[in-house]
Amino acid sequence: MQRSSSQRWLERAQAVTPGGVNSPVRAFRAVGGHPVFFVGGQGPYVTDVDGNTYVDLVGQWGPALLGHAHPAVVQAVQSAAATGMGFGAPHPNEVELAELIVERVAPVAQVRLVNSGTEATMSAIRVARGFTGREVVIKFAGCYHGHSDGLLASAGSGVATLGLPDSAGVTKDQTASTLVLPYNDLAAVATALHTFDVAAVITEAVPANMGVVPPAPGFTQGLAGLCKENGALLISDEVMTGFRVSPSGWFGLEGVPADLYTYGKVIGGGLPVAAFGGRADVMQMLAPQGPVYQAGTLSGNPVATAAGLAMLRNADYAAVDAAAEHVIAMTDEALTAAGVPHTMQRAGSLFSFFFRAEPVTNYDQAQDQDTSAFAAFHATMLDAGVSLPPSAFEAWFVSSAHDERALEQIQRALPGAAEAAARAREESA
Ligand SMILES: *Cc1c(COP(=O)(O)O)cnc(C)c1O
Repeated sequence: MQRSSSQRWLERAQAVTPGGVNSPVRAFRAVGGHPVFFVGGQGPYVTDVDGNTYVDLVGQWGPALLGHAHPAVVQAVQSAAATGMGFGAPHPNEVELAELIVERVAPVAQVRLVNSGTEATMSAIRVARGFTGREVVIKFAGCYHGHSDGLLASAGSGVATLGLPDSAGVTKDQTASTLVLPYNDLAAVATALHTFDVAAVITEAVPANMGVVPPAPGFTQGLAGLCKENGALLISDEVMTGFRVSPSGWFGLEGVPADLYTYGKVIGGGLPVAAFGGRADVMQMLAPQGPVYQAGTLSGNPVATAAGLAMLRNADYAAVDAAAEHVIAMTDEALTAAGVPHTMQRAGSLFSFFFRAEPVTNYDQAQDQDTSAFAAFHATMLDAGVSLPPSAFEAWFVSSAHDERALEQIQRALPGAAEAAARAREESA
């Protein structure tokens, strides 16, 4: 497949933007090869700047639950934009979006809107610290909560280590009150909660940024119980799962209440909207009501919230689930036929394939997979017209627009890609 225009745009981009991208994973470093510049999207398809069309399994990294350019979302955005891009004042759309979240997620009494998942988790932690008067935050290795300083610590697994920064430019002080623990290890959480005065435990509702690693049975319930016993708040980061895996996110499937929730991705309908919310007594700590400061010039923007409302009101979860089932079954079959060891893990319609035979319950295990086999698989799928996330550690995103024809295109691409993965395994062995 010919992608010379993408290549030329990449060269222009690299001259004016670090790595040519505005978010690192887009640069394809995890799979080799070159990023594709997309200029169009319609339903399950995306079209690149060279005119090639692909079935899209990146889905804007989550938001595209209805596929691209869904008429209801486009119409909502157009009419909102024509009425005013924003007023820096309260707007009915913000109220309606907050009401919708509160109606759907029982433990959420109050919501504040922000512009990115990063802001949502950063603000949730601030309000949790303000409410408890404590500083230490527990996170889990392999869980991604955006790029705020204090959360850029992962520090591997094992015992409770004081978090070391994962990024240059983040000081030891900024991560010193972040404890990083192995996921699915309640004993480690119990020990840490007894040892430190912990403000909050933040977890992805289902970790999906190291591949999809569902909580072991009882893990979320155990976290909630331990937090309660020790006066810490539980923050369920549903930026990825929220309003994707069910009308009320992972909470709707598992049913364990947390104190605070964070949302993003799907709730913006493809535009920058995110949110955090939860218990009224905690949320009342926020300015202007309470002493915890948090603000945003563009927060609750009327065009962005119009897109989010249209997305949530038109979501078709049965269709998303059915598309996920299909893609999972076809991929499993192709990898099995080619003799490529793999493990599929899922949380409702959110799923990923690990290129290893054994199940994955934490970050150490997630890292122990054949990423070169995935790279070969990815490149061959791309050339056959299927755009997968360019990393072995990402979920695959389907939408309600992935119809029979799109699924058939994936089906045709799979055998060759699975064989390419098998060859890559032999070469690296
Ligand atoms: C994507 C993501 C974030 C960060 O959201 P941004 O909008 O990229 O800042 C936070 N938490 C989770 C679970 C995510 O998947």
